[in-house]
Amino acid sequence: MKLILFDLGDTLESGGVLLPGAVETLEAIAALRTDGQPAAVLGLVSDFDMPAAPSDVGAIQQQYYSLLDDLGIRQFFEPVAERVTLSTEVGVFKPDQAVFRAAASKAGPAVEFGDILFVTENRNHVLAARRLGLVAVHVRGPGQPHGEIDTLAGVLPLVETFLDRGEPVETVVMDVHPDGQEAMMNRIGASNARWSRLGDVLVVRTPAGRPGQDPDRGEAADSARRLLVPERHLHVVTQTARLFQEDHPDVRVVVDKGRYLVVEFDPAVQSPADGPHASCYRVGPLPAGAVVFDQRAAGAGRSAPAAAEGGIGADDLSESAFEDDVGRLARLRTRHSRSTEFLGALDWAEGRLTELGYATQIQTVAVPGGTSRNLIADRPGDGAERELVLVTAHLDSVNVTGFSAAAPGADDNASGSAGVLAIARAQAGRSTTHDLRLVLFGGEEQGLFGSTQYVSGLNAAERARISAVINMDMIACKNTGTATVLLEGAPVSQGMIDALAGIAQASTSLAVQTSLDPFNSDHVPFIDAGIPAVLTIEGTDSANDRVHTDRDTLETLDTSLALEILRMIAIFVAQALNSGT
Ligand SMILES: [Zn+2]
Repeated sequence: MKLILFDLGDTLESGGVLLPGAVETLEAIAALRTDGQPAAVLGLVSDFDMPAAPSDVGAIQQQYYSLLDDLGIRQFFEPVAERVTLSTEVGVFKPDQAVFRAAASKAGPAVEFGDILFVTENRNHVLAARRLGLVAVHVRGPGQPHGEIDTLAGVLPLVETFLDRGEPVETVVMDVHPDGQEAMMNRIGASNARWSRLGDVLVVRTPAGRPGQDPDRGEAADSARRLLVPERHLHVVTQTARLFQEDHPDVRVVVDKGRYLVVEFDPAVQSPADGPHASCYRVGPLPAGAVVFDQRAAGAGRSAPAAAEGGIGADDLSESAFEDDVGRLARLRTRHSRSTEFLGALDWAEGRLTELGYATQIQTVAVPGGTSRNLIADRPGDGAERELVLVTAHLDSVNVTGFSAAAPGADDNASGSAGVLAIARAQAGRSTTHDLRLVLFGGEEQGLFGSTQYVSGLNAAERARISAVINMDMIACKNTGTATVLLEGAPVSQGMIDALAGIAQASTSLAVQTSLDPFNSDHVPFIDAGIPAVLTIEGTDSANDRVHTDRDTLETLDTSLALEILRMIAIFVAQALNSGT
């Protein structure tokens, strides 16, 4: 059985009034038939009042049902006891998986997360649901600039695709120059086509055999590639190194942008979300109307005056000191989380930070098969109401072939660890309004253990005090023609991304890529806890295939790229540490 789950507030209604298209969409989904039977079941999942006592649950449920009566949509969700799931009865709020699990088990004993399409205006809930294995779609809510789809009417074709009724579509892959993007998007918007964009590559789907709606009329046609595939075969992959392609050489890659791929496979036949390196990639349906990652033009460069920006001058970032630090770490045979070499590296970094005047502490981290460590270094500010700015990187390295293999981890992540030390030097001895905390995590490569434990150990007041987390993970390999940084965050970190991109534009020569789909580094636990965090990572175009091998060595690094990224970060940190609260 397939279940189509809707959020209520700001998805179907707002302020007690149904949103445009709500009834029509519910009617259309309810009318879909397979062999004369309803093709899918409609359900609701809502965050609602928590009961003071278990005996209050029934009364609160009745309040909710009467809201549905008032809106005139209760009949779509009958019997409501089986089709409506409230936080009230589960005891936790969305996107906790217990809520979705409760909704699935009410709908039927065999309903799995993969059988559920979840529709909501809450982007974070969409991302969390996808992580659980649901198909989820972000519909634009009141006041939101955009969603993956902009109207409730747009839900129906996605439901049809989800129910495997989508007609074959022609997929056109084309390069789009930034100058031509707007005109191209207008043409596509005027047709029935659906699109996704990865940087300067546009993937457009048009119903096959309807050439009148071909959006591809114009100068971009030269570079266009066409393939005939059902839309449900198109998937987006986010990966570390090229580990998805290594695990699944049989899956056709439609677009290769290094960290991001569009691939084609029939989910009824293949399930390439699994594999030996499955923790290093994520596979999901290619969302329509979505920017997988964005690309902005390169900055003006260092020809801008070397005058201090945010108190950071050109001399505050020493190339030779950075190279010394990277070399020191990457010449160790390994920095595996459980190795003695890791502890040696941690000791050495602690010594450096102590010399620079930081107060350090060590946190023991449980990892599979033993323990690792986090190193935390503090430099307090002198403001009355102090925020906390975090700069982090993982110190550990890994070789996918096993514990005993050499794991120099020069890019991943001696570069980011040395970057933390570079920021430590740039801020040493300065007095700032807010507090600076530097963290070198262990256990990242085993599954973000150091950062997860660190975040879960923060109390509510500490979490609320964190204004920004900059995480550096791989900042020194150049995978792009132009030196490029990828800023990866989530809606909660959009302000940070904009500020960092602005600094990159004004004060560095970096081109900037952005993504709001956080994956597989130490920024993720912060974002999951609602804390603004951004991963700064070398830009993607081709993939760095040396990651997690013995070939991730010093010779492959481009120090000038790392220094440009550090310049952007140093200015951001200086500004954040002195901003008004
Ligand atoms: Zn890493």
